[in-house]
Formats: sequence, C-alpha cells, structure tokens
Amino acid sequence: MEQLHQALSSKSEAFIEKENKYGAHNYHPLPVVLEKGEGVYVWDVDGKKYYDFLSAYSAVNQGHCHPKIVGAMVKQAQTLTLTSRAFYNDQLGPYEEFVTEYFGFDKVLPMNTGAEAVETALKICRKWAYEVKGIPENQAQIIVCENNFHGRTTTIISFSNDENARKSFGPFTAGFIKIPYDDIEALENALKSTNNIAGFLVEPIQGEAGVYVPADGYLAKAKALCEQYNALFIADEVQTGIARTGKLLAVHHENVQPDILILGKAISGGVYPVSAVLANNAVMNVIKPGQHGSTFGGNPVAAAVAIAALEVVRDENLSQNAAYLGVVLRTGLNEIASRNPLITLVRGKGLLNAIVINCDENSDLAWDICMKFSEYGLLAKPTHGNKIRLAPPLVITETQIHECLGIIERALNDFR
Ligand SMILES: *Cc1c(COP(=O)(O)O)cnc(C)c1O
Repeated sequence: MEQLHQALSSKSEAFIEKENKYGAHNYHPLPVVLEKGEGVYVWDVDGKKYYDFLSAYSAVNQGHCHPKIVGAMVKQAQTLTLTSRAFYNDQLGPYEEFVTEYFGFDKVLPMNTGAEAVETALKICRKWAYEVKGIPENQAQIIVCENNFHGRTTTIISFSNDENARKSFGPFTAGFIKIPYDDIEALENALKSTNNIAGFLVEPIQGEAGVYVPADGYLAKAKALCEQYNALFIADEVQTGIARTGKLLAVHHENVQPDILILGKAISGGVYPVSAVLANNAVMNVIKPGQHGSTFGGNPVAAAVAIAALEVVRDENLSQNAAYLGVVLRTGLNEIASRNPLITLVRGKGLLNAIVINCDENSDLAWDICMKFSEYGLLAKPTHGNKIRLAPPLVITETQIHECLGIIERALNDFR
C-alpha cells in the first residue's frame, strides 16, 4: 500500500488528502482521482485513461456523460428544476406514463436514491399487508435474504447481516425474517411459518455479496410461492436492472413480473439521483396523499433525465449487448482462469460479473490486484474481500472487451 501510494502524483495526492481531512471516512476508495468520463472511459487528474469496470455500481450502464442524457438534463435544468409535489409539473406525468409502460406496471412512485426506493417498497408492502391482506396492525413480517444489500438506512441495515454495516447503529427495526439466499425450501418454510407474511424482498442476483447468481428457476419458484401464500414478491433491481444482466430486468430471465419493482442507479444513467418503485394499482393504491413523499422525488430534471436514460437503453440495444458481451467476457475470464490459478471462479450474468480470487476474505490480494488493474488502465474494486466485480458500461464493444481481458491477464500474471 505504502509503495503503491508513492506512485501517485502530487496532484492526486492533494485531492486525496482533502477528502481525508474534510470528508467523513465512510468509504475506502482506490487511490485514483478522476476528473472526466466518456463512454466506457474515465480519466484521472494526470490525464491517464482507464476502462471503468465498476460503472458506479452499475449506475452508468449507458456510459459516462452520455450526450443524450446530459443534453436532456441541461435542457430541463435551464427551464425548471424543482417544484416539489405541492404542484404539478409538465415533466412528471409524461415520465410516469413512459416508465410504467416501459416496465409494464400501472403506477410508479418516484424517489431519488436506491435506499429510499427500498424503504418506499417496504412501506407499501406493509400497508398492503394491513389494509388489503388483513394482517393485524404491527404484525407484518417481510422475508429477506442473508447477505443482502439493499442500502444504508436504519431500517434497511436492520435486516443486513454485514456486521460492519450494523455495528453500533441499533436499535433496529423489527418485522423481518432472514432466510438463506437461493434456498426455495427455506422460503416456503418461512411463508408457511405464520399468516403474517407481507412480502419477500430479494435481489435477483446478489451484487454486493459478490455477484451471487441463484440457481435457474429460483426466482420463478419464489414468485409462485409468494402468489400461493398471498405475499408480495419485491424485486430489488437497483443494481441488476436496466439491461445490466442481459435483459431489461434480471427477473425477465425467468419471465417473472414482480409485485413491486425497485429501480435506481442506471435509471438516470448515473447523471442524477433517480429511483423508482413500480407496482400495479391493487398494491400502489394503498398509498394516499400525505402518507409518503420526498421533496425531490419526481422533480422535472429527474423525470427528463430518466426518460432519456431509458430511451438510450432501448435505442442502443444495451440488453442485447450486455447478453452477448457477457458471454465473451466470461469465456475470456475462464480461459485466463485455466492458465492462472489465482482465479478460482468466474460467475455472473450479462455484464454483471465477478472473479473470485484464490485467497481468503481478509487478504489484501484482491485489493492489490485491483491496484495492478488500475496501473494497467482498468478500474475495478473488490467486494467482500476476495471477489472482484467486473461490470463495465453496457456500451462497451467486443474489441474493447478483448483489450480489457488482456489487461486483466497481464495484471494477474504479475502476482504469480
Ligand atoms: C446500490 C444499491 C442500493 C442502494 O442504492 P443507493 O442509491 O446507494 O441508496 C439498493 N439495493 C441494491 C441492490 C443496490 O445495489
């Protein structure tokens, strides 16, 4: 770390020192200071160019600074930015019509960040449980999965099992039952354990946990069980959604339509905080005026940006590109793994992938490998110690994927 740190320019060093001195230390960034992005590339303050293989945790699926999305933002920002929901505006209605048709739901509730959208979904689910399903007040339980990541609010970390995310933040919100991920039997047991189950909240692929892809059929079976036990199937597609896994939604791989869909990140192409909760009337209509809201949720800039970002996904065939290039990437990574025992496993779907490094979760090796990637011009970050997520913007080309595979292999070879 010390040695690698010395390679930093004094310019980078100065920016890092400012963040260290004046910013809360709630992140541990790779020591790279970025100042510009375009498509699949970002540049640091010394002009060095990198492939971005994180895509801001899949927020930048459309590529950095996509001109159509930025154009929509600038145009709307110069016209009307914020009205609050105390009044109507001329952007929100058209956006709501667009996004509900796009994803096939009756209604949307607009928010800003992923965590807020998850909170919103949990509140809607509980309200539905009491007012439609008839669960006695304060008795509703929502089933969640072990090793989940749904954001950082007090309620959301209440059902996390990441000690780092929870420690010293209690007391926690009650009303959650945790079961193992990708375990259909555990889900059925939980569903029949009480009559008070309101819903099942699940990531179709666990991104933060290390891109854990469940067995084929898991999501479809889980949805069927939820229907059988009259519980809402809530898909958190904040990371997996919007073409990342090779379909518009990851649940589409199993032809599942969730009862509640949670979106964030790429719904704005990474240019503005936008999130959304979608559901049909039977569920969404439980929310009445005054019962939930957000000053910025559904603001005109967010609405204009989200339409543009979703149009880019459709017009540039990003789902198809992610599906095709995901296979190219995993094939290449598996070839590298066959030559280099440092990679013990390659997994993923579409362009949401991870390599598991041959070391334990507390080792620095994956971090050091990411430092090497960075030296050779590719940015990625370890998640849960020994897993490196590889998730470039979906506008990447096949030639670029091959170039990146070359970088990855060259960096890994330095550790043999
Ligand atoms: C990133 C993420 C969130 C939280 O989104 P924020 O915008 O950071 O609040 C929630 N769920 C999943 C699956 C995520 O990947």
